This record gives sequence, C-alpha cells and structure tokens, in this order.
Amino acid sequence: MTATTPGLVCAHHHLYSALARGMPAPPKVASNFQEVLEQVWWRLDTALDLDMIRASALLGALEALENGTTAIVDHHESPNAIEGSLDVIAEACAEVGVRLLVAYGITDRHGADGAKRGLEENERFIKAGGNGMVGIHAAFTCSDDSLEAAAGLAADLGVGVHIHVCEGIGDIDAPNRLEGLTTDDWLLSHCVHLPTDHTLRGTILHNPMSNLNNAVGYANPARFSNPVALGTDGIGGNVLESFRLAYVMQRSVDITVGPDPAWRWLETGWDIVPEARDDEVTWSYDPMDPWHIAFTPGIRPLEVKVDGETILADGKPTRVDADEIRAVAREQAARLHARL
Ligand SMILES: [Zn+2]
Repeated sequence: MTATTPGLVCAHHHLYSALARGMPAPPKVASNFQEVLEQVWWRLDTALDLDMIRASALLGALEALENGTTAIVDHHESPNAIEGSLDVIAEACAEVGVRLLVAYGITDRHGADGAKRGLEENERFIKAGGNGMVGIHAAFTCSDDSLEAAAGLAADLGVGVHIHVCEGIGDIDAPNRLEGLTTDDWLLSHCVHLPTDHTLRGTILHNPMSNLNNAVGYANPARFSNPVALGTDGIGGNVLESFRLAYVMQRSVDITVGPDPAWRWLETGWDIVPEARDDEVTWSYDPMDPWHIAFTPGIRPLEVKVDGETILADGKPTRVDADEIRAVAREQAARLHARL
C-alpha cells in the first residue's frame, strides 16, 4: 500500500551543519544556549571552506531527498568562506535534484566588514538569478546599521529576510530591534522567547527537535497569529519527524489538541516554496493522514519526482551516488574536525 503527497518543505535548515556529527567535544561543557553557540556552532562555521560546504550540502540534500523533502530553505554561515558559498550550496542541491531557497546569515560577530561581505554575497547570488533571500544571523549579533541594511537590500531585491528571532533569552530584545523592519515575506526562526503580543510580521519557523536539544524551551507556536512552518534547524531533513515532534510537544501542554494544527504547519512550507506542491512523493505507507503519520514510525519515500523527473526510485537517488556522497562527506568531516 502506498500513498502520494507533494514534496515536503524543510522551512529552516543549515546544510553547513551536516558534517558536525562526530566533531570533537568542546573544550568545556556548554551550560547554556549562548555557550552552545560559542563552543559548537561558531567554532564550526569559522572552520568551513568551500570544499567542506560542498560536501556538507550534498549530504544534507541527499538526506532530505531520502526523507521526501524536495525543498530546502537554507540559512548559511561560513565567515571565512563567504564569497561564492551560496553558489556552492545551490550547485550541490541541483546535483541531487532538490529545490533550494538560500540566504547568507550576516553577522557583526567578525566586525562590520564580515556583515558587509555577507550582504554582498546575498546580493550577488540573487542578482545572478539564484533563488535566495537576504539572511541575518540574529538581531543580537548585528548592529542596527546591519539590520537596516539587510532589510533595505531585501526590499530592493523584492525578497524576504530569513533570521533567527528569540531562540534563546540572549535575543529577547529582537522584537524591539526589528520593530518596523519586518514584512510578511520574512521568515522568523524559533521565536521561543517572543512575546505572544509581538508586532513582527512574517512566518514563524518552528524547530522542535533543535529547541529540545538546546534546552531553550517550548516556542508554543499555536499562540501566534503569524503563519507557522516547520524546520529542522540543521538536524537532518526529515520533516515528518519535525511534524511528529511538533505534535507531541503541543500535546505536552494541551491534551485536547490533535495532530491537525502541526500538520497545517507542515503545509505552510508550500506557501514558502510553492513549486514543491507540484512535486510527488510516493510513500511506503497508506494513508498519509496526520493521525496515522503521528503514530507510525519508519514511513519512507519509495519514489520522488521533482518537476516531473524521478530523482528517487526504490528509495535510492537516481542522479547521484549516495555511497560516494557519504564517502566524500566523511573525508571532508575529518578535515573539518582536525581544524577544531
Ligand atoms: Zn537555525
């Protein structure tokens, strides 16, 4: 028994984090979210070069496809390999056959020049025809000038901004800092500590597994009037898993709720990447109904079509060699971990 759905959309991914698994433990155990950023992610992203980014993006795109995800909304950062990084990610996704909407997340963590070069990478990629947004890491790592420059560039280019908002308590000023800048096409990731009566515009991206892993708290996205979509925050590309977790986390604070709200959040992905609606995933399970999916482990895609082309057949990618992508990822991960 099989059933078919459109291609799933992962509305918040970090393809650059695919090589993080197995990385050496940080020098000291991180005891809060800020320390997780400083000791894990900000050490990892500064060590990335374009070869690592390519291997990481290929692996992330492959793992997304293997989970029925045909569109990845990626938020990228590599402060020592900014120029051309978005092209490398776009080429890797095109090779595997999945859709990509990518942004370079600017930050003033490495000085104002780093933020400027990040903005230039967004502008260059989008003006060259790339499917992009303008990225901001988060308000708390950017000056007001950088926030305004990013919002201005996005408006000029006719795209939205993809930004982390109130993921941890270190970013609780975000609603004030972003006041008046946001528009409906912005993507606001996490929003765990965003007040319910905030005035920010845009779609809120809920990343249940990442929020649990970082002990930042429960975003309870049902409390917002904004649209909500589901992401993984870089922990793989399995959007059904995000849905299942989103459902049980909502259930953990409201025993009366069913899986339909969490399923609607998954469906919001198609408003962000509408083309994925035309993609076709044939699943190993029938029916693909929210109540069934919420309690059925191991559902997997058998066949995936993007733009009419079969890019996964019998559970295997047709355009790329999965073993080779994994082998190259292992080599590049070893180089990356040696730098750490
Ligand atoms: Zn993120």
